[in-house]
Amino acid sequence: MTVPTIALNDGTSIPQLGFGVFQVEPARTAEVVTSALEVGYRHVDTAQMYRNEQGVGEAIATSGLPREELYVTTKLNNGFHRPADVLTSIDVSLTKLGLDHVDLFLIHWPLPTRYDGDFVSTWQAMVEVRESGRATSVGVSNFQPEHLDRIVAETGVVPAVNQVEVHPYFANDTVRAANLRHGVATEAWSPIAQGAVLGDATVEKVAAEVGRTPAQVTLRWHLQRGDIVFPKSNRIERMRENFAVFGFELDDAQMQALSALDRGEPGRTGPNPDTMDWIPS
Ligand code: NDP
Repeated sequence: MTVPTIALNDGTSIPQLGFGVFQVEPARTAEVVTSALEVGYRHVDTAQMYRNEQGVGEAIATSGLPREELYVTTKLNNGFHRPADVLTSIDVSLTKLGLDHVDLFLIHWPLPTRYDGDFVSTWQAMVEVRESGRATSVGVSNFQPEHLDRIVAETGVVPAVNQVEVHPYFANDTVRAANLRHGVATEAWSPIAQGAVLGDATVEKVAAEVGRTPAQVTLRWHLQRGDIVFPKSNRIERMRENFAVFGFELDDAQMQALSALDRGEPGRTGPNPDTMDWIPS
């Protein structure tokens, strides 16, 4: 099965479906990612704060897959926003991953109440990482429209992606519109709301109509909206289920039925980026 790609604003492209490893136990990560690669995933989304880059690297090394067939993303630890730390932390990530470059490196959170509100110098350091070849593309995560506007206005460099929470209970269309306005691709994190949307009566109804599972129709909704997704699962049968999302389509009424589940701000499951200030000890 060929996963479609999304063209990014820096001339590169990214597989629209990948595999996320948030909350995959570090000790199990190599085994879990090996299963995901066997299923067919070629895009892996990790982060310095997940503490499992090494396991991702082990799975990549043992897979024997050519590097150019893989798309690997990691993200900057909240504790490393100072420019000098950005530059050293990417080297630590690359050593753990066993790679000489990642495909995409993201600022994980803007942390507007930390570092004197300065995420602009962090962004400038990310651009330096790209210029050094250690990341092919650079982007951001959890940036609100005003954060995006600010880095673009102050540096002139537009991120390739903005990875934010999106699922039927939190459509996050304000941020998606800001991304579109800047030509930034949207990556939808927690695409099935960590399972919370799967028992929804509307999701189940649409799933029954198309003869697919609730997870598959939810992922299909994202893909048809043009977003990039990387559902996480520790279980190979769910990895297969989440990968089998290309042989069918939702019609306009089904798309609208899922979009109508949006609860706005109360639908958010993760932290609000405006107030998120956690720095790992
Ligand atoms: P997801 O929406 O991908 O849901 C994962 C959860 O759903 C797990 O508990 C999994 O359980 C369960 N699950 C997976 N597939 C199915 C299925 N087919 N049927 C039933 N249950 C299922 O949540 P995540 O938060 O993991 O988001 C995906 C990725 O997004 C992350 O792994 C990470 O890469 C990224 N992310 C980024 C964030 C950021 O701040 N930038 C924040 C959060 C996530 P089990 O493992 O037992 O199958």
